Amino acid sequence: MPRIADWRWPFFTVDIELTNHCRQNCLFCPREKLTRPAGFIEFEVLQSIVRKLAEIGSRITFCGMGNPLLHPDFSLIAEFCRSINGLSFGYTVQAPALNSANRKLLSDARPGFIEISFPTFDPGLFEQIFPGCDFAESLDFVMKLRAENPQMRGLTVIAIKTEQETRSENEITGFWHSKGFDCRLTLCHSRGGNLTKENLISTRCIAPDNCGLFATHSFVTWQGELLACCHDLTGETKIADLKSSTICAAGQKKLAILNDKMPFEICKICDEPAAFRALPDRDYPESSGARRRFMKKWLKAKQSI
Ligand code: SF4
Repeated sequence: MPRIADWRWPFFTVDIELTNHCRQNCLFCPREKLTRPAGFIEFEVLQSIVRKLAEIGSRITFCGMGNPLLHPDFSLIAEFCRSINGLSFGYTVQAPALNSANRKLLSDARPGFIEISFPTFDPGLFEQIFPGCDFAESLDFVMKLRAENPQMRGLTVIAIKTEQETRSENEITGFWHSKGFDCRLTLCHSRGGNLTKENLISTRCIAPDNCGLFATHSFVTWQGELLACCHDLTGETKIADLKSSTICAAGQKKLAILNDKMPFEICKICDEPAAFRALPDRDYPESSGARRRFMKKWLKAKQSI
């Protein structure tokens, strides 16, 4: 197994939870297990963490257990992110949340990328996964987002292959390509054992001892805490408080954990496909171009698991 020496690797990509509030009730989101307190990240906390991450070139996605569009300082945060030269930032949002007001927020934010969760284009299954949401309306929302942002690159649909899905990978990606979107297909998994709906989960493998996701990706809660993973719904895997810790110290802690078996309970029953990704076997990419190239490879590897 390659040993990672550079403490920046675990922060190659970072998810920051602007909030864990959400109004969607997605079938594959085990929100009922979420015992971490609910809230919104403070603007000053966010500024401090984003500045530290920007210094090492992290790619930041605002997502987590909530809907980032609900943050009352959404526009202020976007403006701040745009003010940092070279910062790569974007959002993950659910298709049914893309009403005209939210599309305007996203368009005005001018992020580098937007990932839209649109699990399936099977209308019946879609409406099972998003109870109370209308398939045709959600499809219309994403098509309008595309039309309203013709120049935007990095508009990607995230499709989720559940056990109920009958379409092939080629059909799914072909559908979205024909509509002008990149598409990434991920397997529905149990999110560290938190999702127990067997009729949805399409992966059964238990993650390896050294998690490839943990090695190159970090998750920060709205309180500014670095957890082992976004699948931790209780906060039991806290590694560092990024309000006070340096990124270097937090990265060193993650590397020390990687030298042994993952010590966390959720890892023992984890079936996250990205955990199977190989650990990086090269020096940390110093330039933004080298990071982009590695990122492309990273996403491709996730797709093919
Ligand atoms: S093994 Fe699974 S739960 Fe543990 S850090 Fe990796 S992805 Fe998260």
